[in-house]
Amino acid sequence: MYNEFDLDKIDIDIDSEPPTEEPFRQYYFMAKCRDWVRAFEQKNGRCPTAFTQTFGCQMNARDSEKLMGILTEIGFCETEDENADFVLYNTCTVRENANQRVYGRLGYLSTLKKKNPSMLIALCGCMMQEPDVVAKIRKSYRFVDIIFGTHNIFRLAELMWRRLDEGKTAVDIWEDTSLIVEELPSERKYPFKSGVNIMFGCNNFCSYCIVPYVRGRERSRKPEDIVSEIRRLSASGVVEVMLLGQNVNSYGKTLDTPVTFAGLLRQVESVEGIRRIRFMTSHPKDLSDELIGAMAASKKVCRHLHLPVQSGSSRILKAMNRRYTKEQYLELVGRIRAAMPDISLTTDIIVGFPGETEEDFQETLDVVRQVGFDSAFTFIYSKRTGTPAAAMEDQVPEDVVKDRFDRLLKEVQDISARVCARDLHRVKDVLAESVDDHSAGYVTGRLDNNTIVHFPGDASLIGSIVPVYLEESRGFYYMGRMVSDGDRIQD
Ligand code: SF4
Repeated sequence: MYNEFDLDKIDIDIDSEPPTEEPFRQYYFMAKCRDWVRAFEQKNGRCPTAFTQTFGCQMNARDSEKLMGILTEIGFCETEDENADFVLYNTCTVRENANQRVYGRLGYLSTLKKKNPSMLIALCGCMMQEPDVVAKIRKSYRFVDIIFGTHNIFRLAELMWRRLDEGKTAVDIWEDTSLIVEELPSERKYPFKSGVNIMFGCNNFCSYCIVPYVRGRERSRKPEDIVSEIRRLSASGVVEVMLLGQNVNSYGKTLDTPVTFAGLLRQVESVEGIRRIRFMTSHPKDLSDELIGAMAASKKVCRHLHLPVQSGSSRILKAMNRRYTKEQYLELVGRIRAAMPDISLTTDIIVGFPGETEEDFQETLDVVRQVGFDSAFTFIYSKRTGTPAAAMEDQVPEDVVKDRFDRLLKEVQDISARVCARDLHRVKDVLAESVDDHSAGYVTGRLDNNTIVHFPGDASLIGSIVPVYLEESRGFYYMGRMVSDGDRIQD
């Protein structure tokens, strides 16, 4: 779709009306903004630079690739330096301190803007979906030029034009939307792999989580749109896709013709050139036997599943509104392992949820021991204003939480070092992702179960999947050496 657009062919004369339909409307405004860029180049003898900073999750990272795609389509040159002509923060608000970080950085940006008054500053993402945040920015950070949210990420060009044309801060926050606009340019971070948004929003309302309030209700992209995006990605050299959603397991429920997530996986599997399919994030209550079957039967779906448990205590899981019990989680893991014995399981765990007792915490440790996770993202509970949990009694004292956090981390790391060595002395396929920053002459890649491998090689290997003999396990990663296909020990 989008590479059919030639901005120079779009009529942007003074009396032309912008199209109402998306994404055509945004290409119209990209063309308008491009005029401003050309004037800037004539005046300054260089192209204007753009910098984006992403806070938070992989969905934000994917959105930022599109935001930079729009900026480069308009004519900006991407820079790694915050001292740029256009600076955009794509914000996160999952934890209270995330907001403080952004306010801190805005202070620094204001000093840069004093030196470069034509600099444009834009803020978008989850934090901007909070009305009190927008009010604070409009009052105390008046130098911010554009403010928009999570539902209208695609409108960057239109809002930039409004700012340039009207000369005042452009603010555009949507309460919610059913609109999905994905056919936009994007500047991907990696040429060989890409995130693909398959759905937006979340209906689960876990009591500690702000996401449903800032990302809105669940809405799924049509499978044909997802598959055609993945075909385009494959044609441009992508071999691995990460299907993204706050809760991918409830994919398809809002479609006119519902399609299950397992059904979507089967469609994506048929795309030529794609060798690996990953997805996140899964919610245990929606992970079906159909999905387990589809994963086990697939040649491309990676043997890694991120399955947040959050707590091992059924009492705490109830207070978290997770809608499964400890037993149900363990039983689900049993079914997954029965179908895919070599699968790598990772998880998220919160310590110190209001009311958590030592017994509850022991239940969490018990789940960690029983499952044997490859790794776990462990978080200290963070009170998030606007969530039901923030109003709960029995906030756990900090020193108690810290002690439990340290004990959990030790348990997780001990187990991780043991289970991550499962493929030692075997030949496994590794997707080479980057040259190793720490050891010259080495590259870094990942097994399909997401474990990191370092092995001798150079940049010419990046993006290819090569057979590597795993010589040594060093806790959560391997050292290896590339071998020829003939040396592969059949699994
Ligand atoms: S599933 Fe729960 S934790 Fe995850 S985004 Fe939705 S509400 Fe938040």
